[in-house]
Amino acid sequence: MILIVDDTPENLISLKKVLEKHDFEVDTASSGEEALKKVLKNEYVLIILDVQMPGMDGFEVAEAISGYSKAKETAIIFLSAVNTEVKFITKGYSSGGLDYITKPVDMGILLLKVKTFYRIYEQSRKLIEIQNALLDEIEYRKQAEHKKDEFISIVSHELKTPLTSVKGYVQLLARSIDKGDVGTVKKHLHKAQMQLEKLNELIADLLDISKIESGKLKFNKQHFVMDDLLTNIIEVMHQSNPDFTISKTGSVKEPVFADEMRIEQVIINFLTNAIKYSPGTSEVKINVKLEHDQVYVGVRDYGIGIGPEQQKSVFEKFYRVEETSPHFQGLGIGLYISAEIIRRHGGDVGVNSTLGEGSEFYFTIPLHSAAEID
Ligand code: ADP
Repeated sequence: MILIVDDTPENLISLKKVLEKHDFEVDTASSGEEALKKVLKNEYVLIILDVQMPGMDGFEVAEAISGYSKAKETAIIFLSAVNTEVKFITKGYSSGGLDYITKPVDMGILLLKVKTFYRIYEQSRKLIEIQNALLDEIEYRKQAEHKKDEFISIVSHELKTPLTSVKGYVQLLARSIDKGDVGTVKKHLHKAQMQLEKLNELIADLLDISKIESGKLKFNKQHFVMDDLLTNIIEVMHQSNPDFTISKTGSVKEPVFADEMRIEQVIINFLTNAIKYSPGTSEVKINVKLEHDQVYVGVRDYGIGIGPEQQKSVFEKFYRVEETSPHFQGLGIGLYISAEIIRRHGGDVGVNSTLGEGSEFYFTIPLHSAAEID
C-alpha cells in the first residue's frame, strides 16, 4: 500500500486517482501527525511525502518514521514545490528519503518511480524471506545434527549394556560347563537369553524407525479378537514380570480388522513402559471397550506420571522426559513407533496422567480399519 501525505486536498485526490487507476492500493493523510499515526498502524511499501506542511514538515515526518522498526523497509519520495535548492534536496535524502521530486509533478515519471520502488521492495522482501528461511534451515539442521549425535551415543550405550551382559554370562557358562554344573549352566543360559531378547527388541525398534522414515512400514491386516490378544499378552508379560499384577476390565469380542502383531507391539510397549516407569508399585490395569465402532485400549499405571507440558511431547521421536530419563533406560522411540502404527490404522493415541500418581496410555482404532493409510 502507498501512503500519500499532503495538506492540500486537491493534490491528494488527483495523485490518489492516478495511482489507483494503475492498480495501486492508496491511503492518504493530510498532515505529518496523521501520517505518523497511520504508519504505526499499517504497513506501507511507499510514502509520498509533501515537504511543506503546517505543523510537522515532511523532513520531520521522515526522520520520525525512520525510527520505527515497522517502517524500516518503507521507501519515501519527497514532493516539493518550493525547496528546490540543493541544500533542501540533500536534507531530503539525509532524513531517509529515496527520491526527491519537485512540483509540478510529471505523473508519468512519478508512476515509473513508484513502479520501480515497488519492484525493489518486492525483491528485497523476497530476499529477506529467503534469508529467514535459510537461517531457520541452518538452525534446524544444527539441532538435528546435535540430536543425531546424542542419539548415536545413547543407542551405542543401550546396545552395549545387554551385549556386555551376554559376554559375561557366556564366560560364566564356559566355566560352569567345565565344572559340569548343569543347574548354573541353565541359569546363565536363561539370563543370556533375556539379554539377547533385549538386544533384539532394541534393534527391531531401530529398524522400525528407519522403515517409518523411508515409508516402508507395511501392515498385514487380518481379523482377530482383541480379548484373545490381550489374554495372551497378559500371560507373556506376567511371565517376565512376575511381581506385577496385570488385570483387564471390559471386553471386545467382535473381530477387529488390523495388523495383530503391530497392535500387540503397541500394547506391549504401553505395558513395558507402565511397569518400567512405576518403581515401587505392583499393579497395572488394562481397560478395553468398544464405543461407536472404535476399539479403546487403555493401560493404566500408578507410577511416576508425566507433567502436563511433557504429555504433549511423549509421542515425538527421541523425546524422553528430561527430569526422569537418567533414572530409566530407553531410547525415546517406542511411543513414536506406537503412535505411527495407530495413526496408520486410522486411530488415535493419547495419555492422561498426573505427576506422581500415574498415567493411562490409550489408543483407539476403528473396528474395521480401512485399507492402508499413509
Ligand atoms: P523410552 O521409554 O525408551 O524412553 P518411549 O518412547 O517409550 O521411550 O517413551 C518416551 C518417554 O515418555 C519416556 O522416556 C518417559 O519419559 C515417558 N513415559 C512413557 N511411558 C511412561 C509412563 N507409563 N509413565 C511415565 N512416563 C512415561
